[in-house]
Amino acid sequence: MTTLPIVLIGDPVLRRRAAEVPPETIASPEIQTLIDQMIETMRAAPGVGLAAPQVGEPKRIIIVEDPPLAIERLNEVQRDERQRASAFPLQVFINPRIRPAEGSAKTIFPEGCLSIPGYAGLVERALDIEIAWLDRHGVFHDWTPVHGWPARIIQHEMDHLDGILYTDKLLPRSLMTDDNMKRQTDGRSVSALIAELAGEG
Ligand SMILES: [Zn+2]
Repeated sequence: MTTLPIVLIGDPVLRRRAAEVPPETIASPEIQTLIDQMIETMRAAPGVGLAAPQVGEPKRIIIVEDPPLAIERLNEVQRDERQRASAFPLQVFINPRIRPAEGSAKTIFPEGCLSIPGYAGLVERALDIEIAWLDRHGVFHDWTPVHGWPARIIQHEMDHLDGILYTDKLLPRSLMTDDNMKRQTDGRSVSALIAELAGEG
């Protein structure tokens, strides 16, 4: 199995609307191999999500996986703040559609992107969403609720399918290096950082 090179910000493929995958082609070696290579690439990076345009394929396929090991590295406060209490097993979403769950709260949290290495910024997302999709076996899954951290990952990856990057949605003044984001959020809440960035800290 091979990993694929990850396309970086500035490549036009990250700004195109990705095309629907014709359901009758999902079982094809082309699509199945692409999915396997996306999984390998995400795990090798390592990342918790990947969209097909990020490996140069403008197709509406995203994968998400938040493995138990990644969560074990967080302390309890971080898990609570991220709404990241439990692992999210590998899931392949083909032709996904999402909508905010009715009455969902919004949440602001640091985000990064494998296509924009070395940086992070604060982005507002819905805390609860619903997603409908085809899986890699071509089985349709109707509107299914997703909460917290995986909901954030899904919203980020969905944006990739529409040519949108998280840097388009940043809280103003919040873009910084990965390392500085870790430093700025170590031992204090995201809301304290937001207040500081707004000049109130
Ligand atoms: Zn990304």
